[in-house]
Amino acid sequence: MRPARALIDLAALRHNYELARRRHGGRALAVIKANAYGHGAVRCAQALAAMADGFAVAFLDEALELRAAGISHPILLLEGVFDGAELALAANHGLWPVVHHEAQLRMIETSSLTTPLRVWLKVNSGMNRAGFADTAVAAAWQRLRACGKVAEITLMSHFARADELQEPATSAQIACFDAATRGLQGAHSLANSSAILAWPEARRDWARPGILLYGADPIPGEGNGLLPVMSLESAVIAVHEIEAGATLGYGARFVASERTRVGLVAMGYADGYPRTVPDGTPVSIDGQPSRIIGRVSMDMLTVDLSALPQAGIGSRVQLWGREVAVNRIAASVGTIAYELLCNVKRVSFSYFD
Ligand SMILES: *Cc1c(COP(=O)(O)O)cnc(C)c1O
Repeated sequence: MRPARALIDLAALRHNYELARRRHGGRALAVIKANAYGHGAVRCAQALAAMADGFAVAFLDEALELRAAGISHPILLLEGVFDGAELALAANHGLWPVVHHEAQLRMIETSSLTTPLRVWLKVNSGMNRAGFADTAVAAAWQRLRACGKVAEITLMSHFARADELQEPATSAQIACFDAATRGLQGAHSLANSSAILAWPEARRDWARPGILLYGADPIPGEGNGLLPVMSLESAVIAVHEIEAGATLGYGARFVASERTRVGLVAMGYADGYPRTVPDGTPVSIDGQPSRIIGRVSMDMLTVDLSALPQAGIGSRVQLWGREVAVNRIAASVGTIAYELLCNVKRVSFSYFD
């Protein structure tokens, strides 16, 4: 079997969830949208089931997959529902839709729901992506209360820049949210991962940790005690040497400055490892530091084994995980760990505690 694999450490996932809840206080919805940021939503939900207060996903189908797998916890739909039929299904399955714009509010008012809904009313406190304007929140809240179909309203907002520690935008968003919701009854939820870690004043009734559950610190260098959950690994499948002056791989990007021992690894951009990493990007081979040389191709990539005479066919290669921070790889290609983790595919997944 091809050795490309993602190893998912469920004990680390539980550790990170506990850390989030302890830091924040109150209750925490584990955000497992996008297949749990590429880690496997059903397996992650099952691993957290005994401790989690609930889960959050982006939309209905992601929630129904969890319900079908026997997850009976509260599940928040972060994008809300898209039509009346989805609203009815959400109600039947006890899902909690976010209501972030007028059309969704009207769907609830004009529905024939008989089960009272729990909804999360989203306030645009400054990100300007989704949510009711601060001046429109009270009226939306009143309409939800008056329509007779809503049992409970939680008030929420989302931060644009909570990962920037010196940035006043987050405090401004908190102040905007507090002013917009003053006097409106309901629990509050503000904090994503960055805010849980860095903005104590954002801690309210419910936290919404996502990326930190998977052990990728959204505020790199903070040393927050998170444990990486995914190890993306493969193995050396062939070894050869190239002479000084020889080039390696597509576009001949890498030119050997001396005789170089090359390891071929079964991992490529079709598995989700980014094609754009530069020469020198760190990898770990049998626990020893090494580097990518040459362009990453669809199914394979090449590493420098010159300083690792013990390494050979079958050597374990870690692309990211405990030995190589996924944040380091993300930074080297100008993206964030979220995107790299979500993109992992085609490899075999295995889960352990
Ligand atoms: C995805 C998402 C989260 C989780 O964000 P992280 O940065 O991964 O912690 C929280 N709230 C909302 C509204 C989201 O869309």
